[in-house]
Amino acid sequence: MGYGSLTENAIRPDELMARSFELLEEDTKRLMADRNEFITVSCPACSKTETTLFCEKRGMSFVRCNECETVYGSPRPTEQRLAQYYREATYYDYWNQYIYPASEGARRERIVQPRVKRILEIAKRLGVGRERLIEIGAGTGQFCESMAETNHFQEIVAVEPTPASAESCRARGITVLQQPVESVNERDGNADLIVSFEVLEHLFSPMAYLECCKRLTKPGGMIVVTCPNVKGFDVNLLREVSDTVTPEHLNLFHPNSLKCLFESVGLEVLQLMTPGRLDAEIVRKKTLAGKFDLTDHPELKTILLDEWDDRGGPFQDSLEKNMQSSHMWIVARKNL
Ligand SMILES: [Zn+2]
Repeated sequence: MGYGSLTENAIRPDELMARSFELLEEDTKRLMADRNEFITVSCPACSKTETTLFCEKRGMSFVRCNECETVYGSPRPTEQRLAQYYREATYYDYWNQYIYPASEGARRERIVQPRVKRILEIAKRLGVGRERLIEIGAGTGQFCESMAETNHFQEIVAVEPTPASAESCRARGITVLQQPVESVNERDGNADLIVSFEVLEHLFSPMAYLECCKRLTKPGGMIVVTCPNVKGFDVNLLREVSDTVTPEHLNLFHPNSLKCLFESVGLEVLQLMTPGRLDAEIVRKKTLAGKFDLTDHPELKTILLDEWDDRGGPFQDSLEKNMQSSHMWIVARKNL
């Protein structure tokens, strides 16, 4: 694969993104106006309570667990307030109306298809059953649609509570359970494979969510989850300048703490990886936009600015290989 084949601009067109960030800022401003009703929570990975301040972003305090180094928003909105936030957020309407349609082709080629390919590789390698795949938080249904085209699974089901997104799934011919995962009946579960992309970081309780995923998985079935890695290159370097650090992303795990979380709900972790392709480009763009300064990192400045064309790709490859990308995957099994 050529190094230029996944660029940030194609999947997140710049001019549309600028407007979407304004909306996100307005949405989070409304959420943060209720800050005095937020509640302090213990670590979402290890449940310990001793923390150190990591950073502040748009009024949200992000703390780092002294025990496992998970970074998380606390105090955070209650589960009810969070649900209200997602019901009312204009940001997601904007994505559904403008960004997804404008970038559908690019997203399919550069995000969805590689995702399908990776899931198939995992499913074949680990001998995952082929009867039933469930995607939780399926969004507009691009993944389910592309996976269905491979005919690998007999049945593909999307769990998607948001009405507009569920409608988009149905328009693609996908079976949808339009309800939150907590209320999905166990007999509608029975999955050989559950997948959930970029959902975990948004949740009030990742542990409760994983319990639900586990409940809907067959004994011996697999769960694959993706989320940001707070120890990954761009997030670790940019901290509050990173778009990943936002009041919406309440839980920022890293490989070890994510493993700890999965094990705490009784899942066996089979694989962790960070197959991200965008870290270096994200830092480069923040620097070129004057939002981050690489003066204190002369070696990075050379790679990301002066010698980008030659060294950017190999540098990103090394992040991916060494578990240092901010885009993380975990593969786990529900044992008999
Ligand atoms: Zn912890």
